[in-house]
Amino acid sequence: MAKFQRIGVLTSGGDAPGMNAAVRAVTRSALLCGVEVMGIYGGYQGLMDDEMKLFHSSDVSGIISRGGTILYSARALEFKTEEGMAKAIAVCKKNHIDGIVAIGGDGTFRGATDLSIRGIPTVGIPGTIDNDISSTDYTIGFDTAMNTVIDLIDKLRDTCESHARCNVVEVMGRGAGDIAIQSGLATGAIAIAVGEIPFDEEAAIERIRSARANGKRNFIVVVAEGKENYAEGFTKRIQEQTGIESRFTRLGHVQRGGNPTLRDRVTASMMGSFAVDKLFEGQSDIVVCERNSRIVAMNIGFALKVDKLFKGKLTPEEIAAIPPAELSEMQKICDERQAKKMMLYNTARITCK
Ligand code: ATP
Repeated sequence: MAKFQRIGVLTSGGDAPGMNAAVRAVTRSALLCGVEVMGIYGGYQGLMDDEMKLFHSSDVSGIISRGGTILYSARALEFKTEEGMAKAIAVCKKNHIDGIVAIGGDGTFRGATDLSIRGIPTVGIPGTIDNDISSTDYTIGFDTAMNTVIDLIDKLRDTCESHARCNVVEVMGRGAGDIAIQSGLATGAIAIAVGEIPFDEEAAIERIRSARANGKRNFIVVVAEGKENYAEGFTKRIQEQTGIESRFTRLGHVQRGGNPTLRDRVTASMMGSFAVDKLFEGQSDIVVCERNSRIVAMNIGFALKVDKLFKGKLTPEEIAAIPPAELSEMQKICDERQAKKMMLYNTARITCK
């Protein structure tokens, strides 16, 4: 059991509903163990600038239901430099911070590794609406974002039905089509186009045409932002080739806000408490992941490599350098993730008509 007197908690990268629930869980779990907590404002930038406050339990009261992050977030390029890192370490020493929980995406985890190897044990928690961190089945904010998306698409569908229109809806997710696939499935989209799965545009247009001929009046097409520069052009082609009036809607940043759902509140709370447990057990340089419905810890270097492997970003030389047992474990995670994605995508295709 490592001895901690004071830890810091920060949120970094893009914000996500549920981050506050994680901050609350980290704070209350640490205080319960008699360890003080510094709330660090503005991510790693705030760490370098010494923007922080000693948190009492009441500082996290009433935040479990709030979207955004009470700790704010920022992108801090200087943190990637040796000078920036030295500043952050000096601020930790000055404030007697002997461990950190950092909530964010893969950039945040890289920063967490840098802190860990310089003597500030740091644990990452995945917070992003995109669900694009391959080491974990789930990232905080994903469920809330999808519920926002389905609420908005349901509304679009109502008006499509009245006017016999098609609405092509572009949703967030960066390079990952997870939001598009699951919200498309849940809203009965007639087609879903994502960057990482080949899309047969002709077949989709034919499906729309024949459904219209059979009397269908509402057509929702969901496109992931990862399928770049596609949605608007596709909208025009649907109208030209089917004669159905077609509109394009980009949902935009509304997807990032809102009160977190039950799933996000519960998962964020569990991950926050788990992160503190692991930190106090003496673990460092780890990220909290959800794997097959269990909360587990994973080494950050390993998790980042899994992510690159899944996204095809490892060179053959880098792959060859990974010990076989480790590589096979990574491959298993990637295969399971891909299988789940394809199962959802295919279910959406089979069930839309
Ligand atoms: P999101 O997925 O929402 O974009 P993220 O955590 O990946 O979240 P980034 O902007 O990539 O968002 O990273 C957040 C912060 O982490 C950066 O502003 C920077 O301070 C730090 N960071 C990113 N990459 C590194 C790195 N290679 N080394 C150290 N720190 C980093």
